[in-house]
Amino acid sequence: MNPFEQAPPTLGNQYDDDRVLRSYLSRVLPPDVFIQIEESLSEMGHLAGGELYALQLADRLNEPALTQWDAWGNRIDKIELTPLWHRAERIAAEHGVVATAYEQKHGSLSRVHQCALAYLFTPSTDIYSCPLAMTDGAARTLLNSGNQVLIDRAVPHLITRDTDEFWTAGQWMTELTGGSDVGLSETIAKQEPGSNAFRLYGRKWFTSAIASQMALTLARPEGNPPGGRGLALLYLETRDEHGRPRNIQIHRLKDKLGTRKVPTAELTLDGTPAQLVKSPTDGVRNIAPLLNITRLWNGISAVSLMRRGLALSFDYARKRVAFGAPLSEKPLHVDTLATLQAEFEAAFHLAFYVAELTGRSETREISDDDALLLRLLTPIMKLTTGKQAVMVASEVLESFGGAGYVEDTGLPVLLRDSQVLPIWEGTTNVLALDTLRALQSAHGIPRLGLRRFEEVVLGCLENVSEPRLAEAAGVVQSALDHAMSWLAEARADALEAGARRFSLTLGRTIELALLIKHAQWSLDDQAIKSAQRFASIGVDVIFLSTDYTP
Ligand SMILES: Cc1cc2nc3c(=O)[nH]c(=O)nc-3n(C[C@H](O)[C@H](O)[C@H](O)COP(=O)(O)OP(=O)(O)OC[C@H]3O[C@@H](n4cnc5c(N)ncnc54)[C@H](O)[C@@H]3O)c2cc1C
Repeated sequence: MNPFEQAPPTLGNQYDDDRVLRSYLSRVLPPDVFIQIEESLSEMGHLAGGELYALQLADRLNEPALTQWDAWGNRIDKIELTPLWHRAERIAAEHGVVATAYEQKHGSLSRVHQCALAYLFTPSTDIYSCPLAMTDGAARTLLNSGNQVLIDRAVPHLITRDTDEFWTAGQWMTELTGGSDVGLSETIAKQEPGSNAFRLYGRKWFTSAIASQMALTLARPEGNPPGGRGLALLYLETRDEHGRPRNIQIHRLKDKLGTRKVPTAELTLDGTPAQLVKSPTDGVRNIAPLLNITRLWNGISAVSLMRRGLALSFDYARKRVAFGAPLSEKPLHVDTLATLQAEFEAAFHLAFYVAELTGRSETREISDDDALLLRLLTPIMKLTTGKQAVMVASEVLESFGGAGYVEDTGLPVLLRDSQVLPIWEGTTNVLALDTLRALQSAHGIPRLGLRRFEEVVLGCLENVSEPRLAEAAGVVQSALDHAMSWLAEARADALEAGARRFSLTLGRTIELALLIKHAQWSLDDQAIKSAQRFASIGVDVIFLSTDYTP
């Protein structure tokens, strides 16, 4: 008798197989645009399910390495990346995973196209999305800054498809004193006498993608006041023409739970040449365009990792037999996966809705009201999808039983990598407080962004005629009413303590509204069922809090 053989999960073309992505694109893109971009997505889907996925599995044990000294005692601080990342860099450049958003062949919808490429690319490249997100954010920040010297110097490299010319960028903010409270930063910028150039002195505690050619960083010009306002945003290039670090000492690469292909360094700046991007103050405000883009990437990465886990899990359910039938025929297993699928679909629609708004903001086709909505939704989307990604990844591992816990299946990395999503680019609590800040007055009118939020959410329900969606629409309405009344009644201390639950409620509520809108438009049975299920899981997580003294 032949020994038992278990067929492993496999992936097909990750674009062709993705009902949710294809259906969404056919709703938001004009038919001619859809036809024009489909080939690029299908190519990326083919790579993601084929060559890149195989390389990812083969690269599993490789990690980036830091060599601090050469054989002759010279400090070199060289970083060697893994084969997967080398390949990922070339593919990212050639396929325009950053460039597409800047070429703007389809106006504001180019941002949606680019996010679709990133969504397909990310889960097969072990968080190569990290340097790409910062590259994209640096390009946007420099373009917004109006600093023509730096735009001419760096932006062509950041948005090129030419692999020889392509640069990635780092974002060096976090110091030992604080990653959330960056106003505590201790790095000093000393102006060179008689010039606009600066030299930086200080320690940066988390600098990811340290192999990048440039970075945007925060430092305090001498004599500036303490706090965030006294910081300036500066541009630096990491290595000189001989490849030597520019007065940067890399002490070590961090030993992290996940994102292990990402070289994240602790370093000292010891006279690193740098230039002001904008003003000598307001660095935290001036770096905001970068954070908006990296938070969008965070959300797109969250939905892409959920999608990858589910693609593998659904495939495995057809191959794994237990108690006389494949798991795909066991009602409880199917029910478990359907719940995860509903979370994914809801998150997908919110992340891509923020991509649509971001695109319109970049081409200046956004109304003032929608600009406020984008300001509000960026932290909400990032914090909501980050939490969903961790929950879904954890359940995906369990759906494989013991295999989900075993490294050489390539599954545990999904959970480890998802776990970073609620931490970097602003933790859940920090973004919940940012949500409250975004609600403050605009144009002298308090909570204007929230009014637009309400309009958009209710607008999603306007044309709902499918009877199976009626109950879900009711869930949206009551969660919205509850969030609004909670906000109106909460005292200042309760508002701060409840900010996370409030923000998550807004996030889940708009996710459900967008999911209903799409289900009504498509009348796709699966989308309708996902909307029903997401509504029944619940979107309102505001509850009465009681004091707790640790
Ligand atoms: C893998 C990885 C890569 C990273 N790469 C980079 C990088 O390239 N560049 C970079 O600049 N940074 C990077 N970071 C740092 C990251 O952005 C910070 O870790 C993050 O912003 C949190 O800062 P912190 O670690 O100092 O935590 P803290 O700010 O000390 O926060 C600790 C806890 O306190 C909570 N908290 C803080 N303030 C409040 C408040 N007012 N109310 C309620 N709760 C609060 C937070 O939510 C958190 O749970 C990276 C981090 C990781 C894990």
